[in-house]
Amino acid sequence: MESAYAIVFFIFGTVIGSFLNVMADRMPGEQSIVTPPSRCPGCSRRLSVTDMIPVISWLALKGRCRTCGEKIPARVFWVETVTGLAFAFLYLYFGLTPELWVGLFYAAVTIVIFVIDLEHQLILNNILMPAMGIALLISLFAGQIDLAPTFLNAVIGAVAGFGIFLVVYIVSRGGMGEGDVKLGALAGLITGWPNVIVAVILSWIASGLVAIGLLAFRRKGRREAIAFGPFLALAMFITFLWGSQLIDWYLGLFLN
Ligand SMILES: [Zn+2]
Repeated sequence: MESAYAIVFFIFGTVIGSFLNVMADRMPGEQSIVTPPSRCPGCSRRLSVTDMIPVISWLALKGRCRTCGEKIPARVFWVETVTGLAFAFLYLYFGLTPELWVGLFYAAVTIVIFVIDLEHQLILNNILMPAMGIALLISLFAGQIDLAPTFLNAVIGAVAGFGIFLVVYIVSRGGMGEGDVKLGALAGLITGWPNVIVAVILSWIASGLVAIGLLAFRRKGRREAIAFGPFLALAMFITFLWGSQLIDWYLGLFLN
């Protein structure tokens, strides 16, 4: 039964992932995500239902439009697949609990911020602000939702996350975007205090390792910036899931 449910959550995730793709395609250009219906950017043919089955359509069409052969970005496939896997994992991890629904929402927020920042070096207020509102709303139910910080704790976390990246923003003089500072606030609302510190440290470790890797393989010049938001988004989500365990583990290194 559990594996049947996991498959249902995978499929649910791929459908949400396909909506996240629409958001990532349209929101940076300030287009509506509801209308008009999706069309092929190559030939303007309106996409049919069979063009829009998550994961399967992309694989069946081998990543190309069936009429004009225009390439459909691999990102479409990856976002649908990763969202599906994340949803299935969260179901298996949480079971049918309130934490599951919160986790699914934060997973979707993380993925869409990750993708848009990676492609456009942009973290949209239209995504950040509603996510902050919902994270605050969730904190009002901290008593019923295990991983949610209380309202006060979430606000302290947000101030801390915002403050840390504001300092980095000022000191680095444009080495980091304003969006990253605001994302720091969202990370604080989602993870609370002191867990937000874990999110900050994880984001620094991850971006540092990737920067070293890219330099080693000469994929980017030393002066080219890599977007930081994807690392912070991912760190935020990992800290939502395991922040307290990571703190316990780290302190345990010194106490034993
Ligand atoms: Zn086409």
